[in-house]
Amino acid sequence: MIISKLPNVGTTIFTRMSQLAMETGALNLSQGFPDFDGPLALRDAVGRHIAAGHNQYTAMTGLPALREQVAAKIGRCYGRTVSAETEVTITPGATQAIFCAIQALIRPGDEVIVFDPSYDSYEPSVELAGGRCIHVPLALPGFSIDWQRFSDALSDKTRLVILNSPHNPSGALISRAELDQLAMLIRGRDIYVLSDEVYEHLVFDGVSHTSVLAHEELYSRAFVVSSFGKTYHVTGWKTGYVVAPPALSAELRKVHQYVSFCGVTPLQWALADFMSEQPQHTEELPGFYQAKRDLFCGLLKDSRFSFSPTPGTYFQLADYSAIRDDLDDVAMSEWLTREHGVATIPVSVFYQQAPKDLRLVRFCFAKREDTLRQAAEKLCAI
Ligand code: PMP
Ligand code: GLN
Repeated sequence: MIISKLPNVGTTIFTRMSQLAMETGALNLSQGFPDFDGPLALRDAVGRHIAAGHNQYTAMTGLPALREQVAAKIGRCYGRTVSAETEVTITPGATQAIFCAIQALIRPGDEVIVFDPSYDSYEPSVELAGGRCIHVPLALPGFSIDWQRFSDALSDKTRLVILNSPHNPSGALISRAELDQLAMLIRGRDIYVLSDEVYEHLVFDGVSHTSVLAHEELYSRAFVVSSFGKTYHVTGWKTGYVVAPPALSAELRKVHQYVSFCGVTPLQWALADFMSEQPQHTEELPGFYQAKRDLFCGLLKDSRFSFSPTPGTYFQLADYSAIRDDLDDVAMSEWLTREHGVATIPVSVFYQQAPKDLRLVRFCFAKREDTLRQAAEKLCAI
């Protein structure tokens, strides 16, 4: 019998809930993905590049034209000049970028601070590197960082802090003041930052995203990760990138070249074309998703769920304690899927130890208007 290196890991909640939605015919507002296609021009470009013979390995670090586009976007959005050659690496998905950054940095015995609720791939990646996650719960109800608990979690073994803003599952946004606070607390220590910013362009209500890329001091010790999947409505393309100072990028690339070597070539060509032809796409995205958020929240206004509109991401949390306070959130998600035809994600699974009275489920509103209307009708009837 093989002795598992990940004895506590099963099938992810995203796979389980999407499977249950499929089996029961429920509307799938669980796993985060759009039920509509990305821009036609982007999809057409893939076919064009395949026909044009762009089908062999590209550069290990990513197609140069795509790295240039990413660097240009970072200049436009965050005012930082990064080198496409030495600081930008294209990866097959943000998940792989996160994995490679962790493998490049973490050694047996190292500690990594994660804020709960935290995305499910962080901890297994840390464990495979021989490290240990120290879980610091975010303060409710706003999911903000509790600096006292963070300071208490720091130790001589701390090597990495993982940030995620906009935050999955809560949508919470980190502020400049919080980044300054973090910089102050880790100053002079051998601690790095992994900033998961895959929802960087999904920030609403006129607020702009606070990126570690715009923070001089933190960026000097950071890996900043993003995903084309979220920004261009193509989660199945599994294409992302990581931006880090040259010395960190060099170490990350040593791992990346043996995990996958490079990303998928024709997808990178298509993304490079689209980014150069339609740079305004990222500016239009907040409005596009804010309209979906407002529609969904407006339709749920008369339901027995309570919530406040999410400031970012394409997820909306909702408290169901007025409906079934007797059910924990895993049971509630199953009940909603089986009995009411709407699949959701329970929030407790993102915690090492969830608060006992947590009664929150996550809805993904990256859906067509008719899907959102049908789902809301079912949810309002409960
Ligand atoms: N981080 C977070 C917070 C996510 O929600 C996701 C979503 N899927 C990822 C990373 C992974 O992105 P990708 O699909 O590009 O691997
Ligand atoms: N990030 C997506 C979510 O939070 C899921 C991605 C996955 O299934 N691994 O729903």
